[in-house]
Amino acid sequence: SPRIIGLTGGIGMGKTTVSDYLDKTYQLPILDADIYAREAVQPGSIVLEAIVNRYQSKILLLDGTLDRRQLGEIIFTQPSERIWLDEQIHPYVRQALSRDRDRLIQHSHQTIVLVIPLLFEAQMTDLITEIWVVSCSPDQQIQRLMQRGALSLEQANARINSQMAIAEKRDRADVVLENTSTLEDLLEQVDRAIDHPFSPNSTKSYG
Ligand code: ATP
Repeated sequence: SPRIIGLTGGIGMGKTTVSDYLDKTYQLPILDADIYAREAVQPGSIVLEAIVNRYQSKILLLDGTLDRRQLGEIIFTQPSERIWLDEQIHPYVRQALSRDRDRLIQHSHQTIVLVIPLLFEAQMTDLITEIWVVSCSPDQQIQRLMQRGALSLEQANARINSQMAIAEKRDRADVVLENTSTLEDLLEQVDRAIDHPFSPNSTKSYG
């Protein structure tokens, strides 16, 4: 039966780094929940319509697309609004992920990667057979997020605090990738995890 890897971890802990590597080095098909989440709010979508009903058309940019920065400001300062938005978007993401996963399986892919930042929060673990959590220290997380330059410290903290604690994600992982050292060290752990499909006996750490 196909191996469906669900890749998750805290914001900025290294999901994209790992999935880019799995793509380039192993040519594995990657499905990214973030892409579907953006698709869900395209002009004309029922989700965008619900968002405009809730926040009025001031939530749109002049070209009619969603003002993601403004919406981000709302949902990361008001948890109830984030929960509302997630409830609008997650059903679409789940359906699209599951559809495209099944297509890949039908095309005989044996190993498929689903990158799902909110794997646990959105209760999507049933879509996969193996849970990989990329993990680093809180200090490294903040440092890497800030290095990217798009968020203030306050904004970064708000986003981190909106997610399930990394300790809990690690507890639920089948494989923990410790991204606390160099990139090379991380990618070696990925090599080992790929070579040893998870068997449901014990959690593995490749750090
Ligand atoms: P997001 O949740 O925002 O999508 P992410 O989990 O996909 O983030 P990445 O984008 O892979 O995380 O990594 C965050 C930043 O940290 C990137 O700029 C990346 O290059 C850098 N980074 C990742 N791993 C390491 C490492 N081991 N050493 C130094 N920098 C790293």
